[in-house]
Amino acid sequence: MEGRARVDEESGELSLSPSDNHRYLVQHTTPALRFSGGDVAAWQEQLRPKLRELLGMPEPSAFPLRARTLWRSELELGTVEKVVFAAEPHADVVAYFCVPYDRPAPHPTVICLQGHSTGMHVSIARERDDESAPFEVEGDRDFALGALRHGFAALCIEQRSFGLRREQTQSAVSPHGCHDAAMQALMLGRTLVGERVFDVDRGIDYLAARGDVDLSRLGVMGNSGGGTATIYAAAVLDRVRFAMPSCAFCTYADSIMSIYHCADNYLPGLLRWAEAADVLGLFAPKPLVVVAGRDDAIFPLTGVRRAYDDLRTIYAASGAGQQCRLVIGDGGHRFYEKQAWQALLDVLR
Ligand SMILES: [Zn+2]
Repeated sequence: MEGRARVDEESGELSLSPSDNHRYLVQHTTPALRFSGGDVAAWQEQLRPKLRELLGMPEPSAFPLRARTLWRSELELGTVEKVVFAAEPHADVVAYFCVPYDRPAPHPTVICLQGHSTGMHVSIARERDDESAPFEVEGDRDFALGALRHGFAALCIEQRSFGLRREQTQSAVSPHGCHDAAMQALMLGRTLVGERVFDVDRGIDYLAARGDVDLSRLGVMGNSGGGTATIYAAAVLDRVRFAMPSCAFCTYADSIMSIYHCADNYLPGLLRWAEAADVLGLFAPKPLVVVAGRDDAIFPLTGVRRAYDDLRTIYAASGAGQQCRLVIGDGGHRFYEKQAWQALLDVLR
């Protein structure tokens, strides 16, 4: 980049795009808590509280869950309950809890997070506003059915700004639906993704209260915006035992700092402290499957490989080089159930 700056001076070319300056800064910034070898656990103890601070997550509170079941029904592969619990004042979380037929409790369980979509109903392949009607799911995004097919229970959380939790009380909203909430969160010293991670934590409270979930085999998975929440949840929530983020893990330099993404992908100040590999490196040595698409245009494979190489270094330094896998699907920005679950069962073994 220095070479290019000189060329610019010589040629007299003007840098008028704000992103030109930002890319220059990204190239010339070394995050202060990048992993640089040594004791992984000691490094994690420094970075994790900083990341929690940058996420601006709500403080853990004794606010009552007030969990209740709205209805129960049956799917081809198991039972499903629609449930609701309170994350914090005026923030109710709706979710589906699915259990495979003929499997004894306590159940290994995966929390499933959709990305920018019509919501959690995609995970059970039923229509959002009429769950008795089938919904055609593309790109293996029927995460709960994938979990049931592999003998796992699933808690499909509706994330803030998506699906049933899309903005409905404000008169006008951005096309993506997340922009307004993401910006308002910043004014409160929060981030929307931090609030989503908080909801996952409350989802774990809910699962713990149920009594039929094996908390030693509890994971989080999701694609795209759901993958992003998965990564941050894995990084800061102790109770997450395995993670499978899809089409969300890539160097920040190659993805959200180079390609248009909406506002809920950004954490103020994060690049002063860490790159993506460091964030997910907070999960080492726990079982991890990173899923990517060969032709994913918004999380490009070159950046995924760059980030994964650094992540592997952290896992290897923590003595768990075999506990993380990279699955590359032969397609775009989507999930790849067969390969991903095969890798997950392998690292969980
Ligand atoms: Zn968004």
